Amino acid sequence: MRVIVIGGGIGGLALAQGLMRYGLDVIVVERDQDLADTGGYKLHLGEPSIDALRKLLVPESVELLHGSAVGTLGFSLAVRDHRGRLLIRADDGSGGLSLDVDRVTLRLVLAEGLGARLLTGRSCLKWSAEEDSVRVELDNGQSLTGDLLVLADGPNSRLVRQLATRPTTFPTGLVGVAGRTQWKDLSPASRKLLERWPMLAIGPGGTGLFATAHDPVGRPALRARRNLAASREPLAIWGLMTVEGTIPLRPDPSAPVDLSGAAADLLRQRGWTAAAVDIVRHSVKDSVGAFRLYGSDPDRLAPWPASRVTALGDAVHAMPPTGGQGAATAILDAAALADRLGAAARGGTTTVMAIHDYEAAMRGYAAEAVRESLQPVRWILGTASPAGSQLTRLALPAVAAAARLGRVVRPYRREGRKKLADRRNNFSGVR
Ligand SMILES: Cc1cc2nc3c(=O)[nH]c(=O)nc-3n(C[C@H](O)[C@H](O)[C@H](O)COP(=O)(O)OP(=O)(O)OC[C@H]3O[C@@H](n4cnc5c(N)ncnc54)[C@H](O)[C@@H]3O)c2cc1C
Repeated sequence: MRVIVIGGGIGGLALAQGLMRYGLDVIVVERDQDLADTGGYKLHLGEPSIDALRKLLVPESVELLHGSAVGTLGFSLAVRDHRGRLLIRADDGSGGLSLDVDRVTLRLVLAEGLGARLLTGRSCLKWSAEEDSVRVELDNGQSLTGDLLVLADGPNSRLVRQLATRPTTFPTGLVGVAGRTQWKDLSPASRKLLERWPMLAIGPGGTGLFATAHDPVGRPALRARRNLAASREPLAIWGLMTVEGTIPLRPDPSAPVDLSGAAADLLRQRGWTAAAVDIVRHSVKDSVGAFRLYGSDPDRLAPWPASRVTALGDAVHAMPPTGGQGAATAILDAAALADRLGAAARGGTTTVMAIHDYEAAMRGYAAEAVRESLQPVRWILGTASPAGSQLTRLALPAVAAAARLGRVVRPYRREGRKKLADRRNNFSGVR
């Protein structure tokens, strides 16, 4: 069976690894010339996606991943207001291993050993499917044929629109700006905000900021023979979310915009503490990127009958990074699909039934991840109105004071994660 995968992002590369392990013939077409070309932000992977990667990757690559990532037990988050005051400390209470890994690093690990199976610097323009085969046309005039096509080309995919015959992704109304700042360039006040836990803060005027310390060379999850971490120095990694129109999305190359400067100015104007503003302002300049945040309708994922063409990751269930689950869910997709295609290759099911079963399972766990990720978008949009802004300014100091008095440490058990783990364990069940 020959599988063509469009998109060598997190989900596409993870799938290729799994298919290779099952002995299937796979080719990945990736638009980027270099895997380090897009998105150097940090990804948080919880236990279900780490377990899925252990099934998809050869043991050496699993070790390489752990050796190039920061490991933590459980996941804690300091929810702060825009002045930096602690509102609650959220803790998932799981105690399970999670990994923080740079997206570029994860892509490099996932590309290990793919060799000529990974075609970089090539874009897929269109696809067609016959009863027994699929065909894709690339931007260099080349065409490829195979038995199965997997669209893993990220959010707002034109190729998935062709499959669904309508758009499956919508802009949430928020944009994200993400970047990195060297730890040594941070003031003591900025460091203090991030020293113990990652921070998520929501402020007035439709602004939210996530920031965390990241040191994969100094504090790797384990000492592996190689460390592929893209950043060799301790860093603060941050992501700002704000309403569309406040930050230029596609800067005019003839009049380049200082994105970190624009993001820092926005936070300052909205009354954020200097400690937070400075994390953004002192960023490594070429590390900063801006992007529109997309979502999808969790009740209508993959709205097509199963066939030889399917999709995974953000291409089928776009979700904003506000839930920190997009990459993890793309990895679960890869494991679910590889598992079923492996069964089809062994004669246990047909290819189209394998895809049907994958899509049925995916609609369940991905819908939950999409719902959880869209919730903070509603909060941020809610603070964008003049009334919401005023309410945020009035309410947050009171909540912060109550938190200080009561030393609020609130465990938050993400039911979704548990259900997600349960679904993962039931991957072989037909829904
Ligand atoms: C700031 C930020 C922080 C995030 N944090 C987290 C986190 O902590 N945890 C988490 O789980 N997720 C996180 N995410 C989400 C995560 O990055 C995405 O959900 C994940 O990358 C989706 O994987 P994917 O394979 O579906 O798509 P992508 O990784 O976006 O890959 C799609 C690939 O397809 C390629 N492509 C597109 N069109 C074509 C074409 N026509 N032909 C060939 N190739 C094409 C693109 O170049 C790209 O490489 C974050 C995202 C952002 C922006």
